[in-house]
Amino acid sequence: MQPLSASALPPRPDGGPLLWSPLSTTIVHGPREAILVDPGLTTEQGVKVAEWAAGFNRTITGIYVTHAHGDHWYATAPVRERFPDLKVWATADTIAEMHRTTPGGKPDPFWGAAFPTLIGDTPVIAEAVPESGLQVDGEPVVPHAAGHTDTEHTTFLHVPSLDLVVSGDVIYNQVHQYLSEAGEHGIESWLKAIDAVEAVNPATVVAGHKNPERDDPASTITDTRTYLKAAAEVFAGATSRVEYFDEMVRRFPKWLNPGIAWLTAVGRWAE
Ligand SMILES: [Zn+2]
Repeated sequence: MQPLSASALPPRPDGGPLLWSPLSTTIVHGPREAILVDPGLTTEQGVKVAEWAAGFNRTITGIYVTHAHGDHWYATAPVRERFPDLKVWATADTIAEMHRTTPGGKPDPFWGAAFPTLIGDTPVIAEAVPESGLQVDGEPVVPHAAGHTDTEHTTFLHVPSLDLVVSGDVIYNQVHQYLSEAGEHGIESWLKAIDAVEAVNPATVVAGHKNPERDDPASTITDTRTYLKAAAEVFAGATSRVEYFDEMVRRFPKWLNPGIAWLTAVGRWAE
């Protein structure tokens, strides 16, 4: 897990480390072609992802970005250096959100503070998914708009031929969920997005953030919902950042990276 610079966040109440959660990059491939989903955050990650993707010996036709959070796409440039012909796709709403949060192609200040020197150029080069949709070797790869989940205008990708959902941050795999942006109705909206994933009945769900020791089961759909309902309860009852943090860690002792519960608490309670 990538450490956050100490200046990005006050120290954790339990003295634990401030780390970014493990992030999934997925390659959806057929016999000849492939699409890469969410290439990551840092330049180093992008270089490694490009190396890994090259090993599949497929034509990488494009990168699909599930949502506008920088950790899912700031590493696009180093991947494109290796595969200059690939396209970068996102939904039109996600692209608008990228422009809003990465104005003029410059990361929003949080990212620069959290990962100084590690993030390279982040021009917004994504183009809207074409009318004809996305395919890998003729099989459809279908973006679904999911609205607000851990940020605005998120999506997940459904691959019917594989019974697969690549969920971006709509589903988390037993990693503390980021809720700073939930506001008043964010949790409600996120729960609806989870229902939309469930409605396509996937056998496999690759979550945007996962405990790398776990597989990718569809039971993460229920887990993500359970966490959100708990967070809603704790938001309603807690009166401080420390109370929220302590209670979420107590309720989800096995979930990875409590630092994200702390990031959420700091975002929700000004002190
Ligand atoms: Zn996110």
